[in-house]
Amino acid sequence: AAAGKDKPTIYVIDSFHPKAIEHARTLFNVVLNTDKEFTGWQQKAKAILIRSSYMRADDIAKCPNLIAIGKHGVGIDKIDKEACDARGIRILNTPGANAQAVAEIVVALAMAVARNIPSIYARQLTQPVPKETCTGQTLFGKTIGIIGMGNIGRKVAQMLQGGFAANIVAYDPYLPAGAWPDIPHRRVPAYRDLLADADVLTLHVPLTDETRGMISYAELSVMKRTAIVVNAARGGIVDEADLRRALEEGLIWGAGLDAHEQEPPTAERYGALWRLPNVVSTPHIGAATDDAQLMSALGAVDNTYEYLKS
Ligand code: NAD
Repeated sequence: AAAGKDKPTIYVIDSFHPKAIEHARTLFNVVLNTDKEFTGWQQKAKAILIRSSYMRADDIAKCPNLIAIGKHGVGIDKIDKEACDARGIRILNTPGANAQAVAEIVVALAMAVARNIPSIYARQLTQPVPKETCTGQTLFGKTIGIIGMGNIGRKVAQMLQGGFAANIVAYDPYLPAGAWPDIPHRRVPAYRDLLADADVLTLHVPLTDETRGMISYAELSVMKRTAIVVNAARGGIVDEADLRRALEEGLIWGAGLDAHEQEPPTAERYGALWRLPNVVSTPHIGAATDDAQLMSALGAVDNTYEYLKS
């Protein structure tokens, strides 16, 4: 490690895994958001580490010296990338670091919805539950529609193919033909082409102008009545009002959500949706495992260090 006074300084805007902070101290002078020197970081910082805070254009404008943003995790939708590009500020995120953890929660949500586990559990807290009211669905051999075959989409495909002999139908126009040779799949030219076949539809795209609202009432209407929709990507990719309507009308079997337009999601806004017996919701905890948090945090530290060194 470089000698103390030669080390670059990094301002840690959000909380990071303690082991990653320990590692960061070998590379940087680390200023945590709880330290006294943190005050006025915007004026001083050349490099920051960020996790869930926003960096909008006006936030970036307040940071005249900023050149690098180490981003915990993959999603950068809270950072104004155009404003960064215009100033030559580099965003160093950690693609893939949390993919396994998110893929695991996707499978957990799909299974919880398929078997109605949370609502059956809640019912039995007050009275015995007759088994005949609990018939669910097996996932084995079913068709899984995946929109977005990046790091997470591919892990979901591998897990469901390996463990459940699933048929994978995939849509991702940004990856070359012949991508993922290790995953037998059928690829469709338009995402609407996979909706009618999917027993489980799962979304693994970033939130962009193109993906916002890509699953709305019209798309849900063509799905099987037994279909399960999982959104562990970002709130708003599935239109929330339309999803609730489709669930209430029985157009689909159920939904598993780890992403909401409002985060953290509140009961005031989502209570009616959450009380539906076929909805399972978690507050954006897909990447919240100790392993994934550590890997994402270390990745953000190392990627930022490598960039500053280069
Ligand atoms: P990734 O960048 O590896 O994959 C995203 C894929 O989406 C890419 O292959 C890209 O080509 C594809 N894509 C982009 N626009 C598309 C479109 N319009 N239609 C179809 N495909 C499109 O990212 P990842 O690590 O797989 O993560 C995917 C998303 O999951 C992230 O953008 C983030 O929003 C979300 N995420 C959620 C959690 C969580 O805790 N629930 C954690 C990490 C990431």
